[in-house]
Amino acid sequence: MIDLHAHSSASDGTEPPAGVVASAVAAGLAVVALTDHDTTLGWAEATDAARAVGITLVPGIEVSCSRRHRSVHLLAYLPDPADPVLVAELEQARDSRESRLDRMVARMAADGLPVSVESVRAEVEPGATAGRPHIADALVRAGAVADRDEAFARWLGDTSPYYVSHYAPDPVRAVEVVRAAGGVPVVAHPLSRTRTGVVTDDLLEELAAAGLAGIEARHRDHDPAAVRHLTDVARRLDLVVTGSSDYHGEGKPNRLGENTTDPEVLERIEALATGTEVVRP
Ligand code: AMP
Ligand code: FE
Ligand code: FE
Ligand code: ZN
Repeated sequence: MIDLHAHSSASDGTEPPAGVVASAVAAGLAVVALTDHDTTLGWAEATDAARAVGITLVPGIEVSCSRRHRSVHLLAYLPDPADPVLVAELEQARDSRESRLDRMVARMAADGLPVSVESVRAEVEPGATAGRPHIADALVRAGAVADRDEAFARWLGDTSPYYVSHYAPDPVRAVEVVRAAGGVPVVAHPLSRTRTGVVTDDLLEELAAAGLAGIEARHRDHDPAAVRHLTDVARRLDLVVTGSSDYHGEGKPNRLGENTTDPEVLERIEALATGTEVVRP
């Protein structure tokens, strides 16, 4: 089984990179991709862990993108982690996420919610990409909610008055940057309804023209009609179709291997990549 979308504590997953690798083995996966938000911080630890336990690792990133206030997520497989343009884009997004988190926390604290910049920072591993789930974790620790899901439903959603956006590149630029870094761009969960807006067919066409390689069609947030639609669009635009879990440890109900990708699709992704090698046991 091949699962090409998982998060560690290098961003908003709850397990360290080596823990994600161990969980992948326990779930019976042959291949797992580590795709933390806007960072390659977890790659080194995951690589060592994968070699030690004998599982195949695909190093990746989930790049935050934004088009007209709508959030788009782009999976980038096997890019060169030292590519200066890619590094600069990711740094800018991570920096902006820091100040955005402080602004969200200030708004929430002013309204009497039990969070502070310090209590939220304490939930973020050193160097990790900060996100709303870390505010949720601080709220859970303070006893205000039972879990991340409740925190999002009450206060952290995209339409919440506390919501503040952060810098993220346009998805067309992100596709170009990932390609130029030798990576393989695959749009993540394009029809997820938990997002501010959905990715339209027109945008998928635009991204395909810019060098998009694939569409993550099989995902927990997609119903069967969405999967069918995205599979049709992928066929029309000559893109590969992937299926993945979007695992976040205990931070989400998503379980490793709940959606999987065909071996031929991984072969195609690997053939297109020139930035980094797949880590094989
Ligand atoms: P951010 O990147 O800071 O805008 O926060 C968005 C992230 O929060 C997404 O990548 C998800 O991993 C996570 N998320 C969104 N909705 C929920 C939810 N209901 N429960 C737990 N995590 C969520
Ligand atoms: Fe996430
Ligand atoms: Fe995502
Ligand atoms: Zn994700």
